[in-house]
Amino acid sequence: MTEASSFYSHIRNELKSIEASGLLKKERIITSAQQAQIKVQTINGPQTVLNFCANNYLGLSAHPEVVKAAQEALSTHGFGLSSVRFICGTQDLHKTLEARLSQFLGTEDTILYAAAFDANGGLFEPLMGEMDAIVSDEFNHASIIDGIRLSKAKRYRYRHNDMADARRCCEEARRHGARFILVFTDGVFSMDGTIAQLDVLRKICDEFDALLGIDECHATGFMGDTGRGTHEFRGVLGKIDLITGTLGKAMGGASGGFTSGRSEVIQLLRQRSRPYLFSNTLAPSIVGASLKVLDMIQTSTDLRNRLMANTRFFRQAIQAQGFEIKPGEHPIIPIMVYDAVKTQALASRLLELGIYVIGFFFPVVPQGQARIRVQMSAAHSQADLEKAIAAFGQAGRELGVIS
Ligand SMILES: *Cc1c(COP(=O)(O)O)cnc(C)c1O
Repeated sequence: MTEASSFYSHIRNELKSIEASGLLKKERIITSAQQAQIKVQTINGPQTVLNFCANNYLGLSAHPEVVKAAQEALSTHGFGLSSVRFICGTQDLHKTLEARLSQFLGTEDTILYAAAFDANGGLFEPLMGEMDAIVSDEFNHASIIDGIRLSKAKRYRYRHNDMADARRCCEEARRHGARFILVFTDGVFSMDGTIAQLDVLRKICDEFDALLGIDECHATGFMGDTGRGTHEFRGVLGKIDLITGTLGKAMGGASGGFTSGRSEVIQLLRQRSRPYLFSNTLAPSIVGASLKVLDMIQTSTDLRNRLMANTRFFRQAIQAQGFEIKPGEHPIIPIMVYDAVKTQALASRLLELGIYVIGFFFPVVPQGQARIRVQMSAAHSQADLEKAIAAFGQAGRELGVIS
């Protein structure tokens, strides 16, 4: 560490400018497990609050059965593998989880990654070359954008959720002589809870002989009648070529990701996908717990039904309070405030009232589109929801967001 270098002062200036533009992200410290009710540190000391900003859709992040399954795998399979998969890092548990995920998603094979970010990061480069085209929604997740950047394929970007524009991109890619075309989209977009029109996209892909891939991070485990995901919700089960997803949200929330699809594709990813080849195996405890999660959600749809019932109730009740929300059906519920300062004030006041929510504003969402993003969980009780609705009403009236 040398002070002579201007590098460090350059970095400090970067930080200052992030702070000056109001974009510095501060992390709140939780001192309990992740669940409906959590303990957080605040400037006034520790506080117990209801959590409405986790991706804990099915309430499994601290579920006793999931924790027990993780502990059991820890005893039988150890803490870690200290290896990548292809050297000595593949256990029976990993193969079982891959098979179970394939069965659940309705695909032929699945490959596990340390995170969905890696699944997306290592997806495009091995599969799509310079003669090929990737057609991508402009609001796709950062990991998809980075993954596409790593491939040599020609890129086409369509306006968010605009099917006519997606078709235009496919048509252009064909006209430009693309060998293979892959259309890739988030199944569910995390800022608005928008559910991709996979039925329409499938038709467009069929018209242009294109492949269709989806990122199911905000869908796996609960979207569709049996929770298989957006493809089930949109009636195109078995008709998606590539599915990436996470174990770090609804599926227990620890970490881990996957890519699922045709057997030959997954086999090639095992040979060529760099985040798989050069990164450590998923911890056995996570794998064991994920198998338990699959058991739970495949024997009963109670949790996803509860989540959806909570979603319907909250969407209706928050509107009855006078708030404007982005319409939809997903447990991501964006409450539109539009003004960034008011959004932050509302989130702070709600925390005082025992409701933990996060405000989103530019550049995370477009300018003038500031909002509070509320996320439902199957772990929320009716009383939790009613408490949150009442707090929103009170804080909203105090701050003049509603009348
Ligand atoms: C959360 C998320 C990811 C990253 O998942 P990790 O497993 O946490 O790396 C990727 N894509 C989308 C759409 C996400 O929401």
